[in-house]
Amino acid sequence: MDSVLSLELVDHLQCGVALLDHQGRIQLWNHWMERYSRRSRHDVIGQRFDEVFAELAQTRFTEAIEQALRSGLSSVLTPGLNARLLPLYQHPEHVQLTQRIQALIYIAAIPRNHTCLIQVQDMTATMRRERRLRAQSTQLIATTYLDALTGVGNRRRFDRDLNLFFASALETHSSIAMLMIDIDDFKAYNDHLGHVQGDACLIQVANALRGGLRQQSESLSRYGGEEFALPLTKADRDVACVIAERLRQIVEDLKLPHPASRVGHSVTVTIGVSAMVPEPGQPSSVLTGRADLALYRAKDAGRNRCLFHDPNLASDCFQRVEQITDLPLES
Ligand code: GH3
Ligand code: MG
Ligand code: MG
Repeated sequence: MDSVLSLELVDHLQCGVALLDHQGRIQLWNHWMERYSRRSRHDVIGQRFDEVFAELAQTRFTEAIEQALRSGLSSVLTPGLNARLLPLYQHPEHVQLTQRIQALIYIAAIPRNHTCLIQVQDMTATMRRERRLRAQSTQLIATTYLDALTGVGNRRRFDRDLNLFFASALETHSSIAMLMIDIDDFKAYNDHLGHVQGDACLIQVANALRGGLRQQSESLSRYGGEEFALPLTKADRDVACVIAERLRQIVEDLKLPHPASRVGHSVTVTIGVSAMVPEPGQPSSVLTGRADLALYRAKDAGRNRCLFHDPNLASDCFQRVEQITDLPLES
């Protein structure tokens, strides 16, 4: 193949090609390079890269060229690590906006004559697509942990967080607590007001509970139908009971009319509470199971109340939170 044809072929490539001599001087600058660098071959032939683009002096790019010419070692500069290294622009208006091409750069040593071939590939669209896909996948992962109706965590999130929190409490010998929160007489609420109103009630209760958390990031989840669960890290009995009573009060204060409640005239919740410092071999279901027992005992005792389950108590394992938190005892 004659050299004129070779040069013509190089000019037709959809990537940038530059050939450097043993002193790093540009010998070949194809059409793609002319177009995207806005430098004609007439301007650059015979000059070094850092003479053409002063900003490239002592960058990873010129270091890689030195390495290729002196030691015969080739390199690849990826757009992820070397974003927008070269001043190459897809459109003239991008120059003002400093929107450079994201390039994949191959710097190939040609040891036979101590020259070096530079190949530049435009990865901007690929990187943009990758970014979009990554954002979509992050969003997708987030939604797989959300309850579609109420926007709090779902059962999957509860299971994940409980396992994480429990393992961490075991490792750090710290206390973990659990609140199981159940709307009182919710079946009757649905029966009287319909499921659409029931759904609206679930959303309002979830929002109210969320408002009473220590931090917005705390893991309130919908455990099942009209039940919510809140695992609390670094929370002992007293902290958990204060939070439980606060949440119970918050729902009561909503004063959402409940025409069929056995408790009163508005929507209320009953909360079972447990807390423990996990011991090796204990599963997290111990914590949940105790909170569940407390919840059902509190239901039996009249609803709209919080009960703490303490397996160490001699007579009855359950304590009303008012006895724990110095809150005024209701009759
Ligand atoms: P208790 O006071 O003992 O907790 O009684 P309850 O009626 O609240 O409990 P029960 O388990 O008997 O009924 C729960 C009801 O919750 C039954 C079901 O129709 C309703 N429910 C569960 N999920 C949803 C939902 O997504 N939307 C609506 N509107 N209702 C739901
Ligand atoms: Mg229930
Ligand atoms: Mg209920």
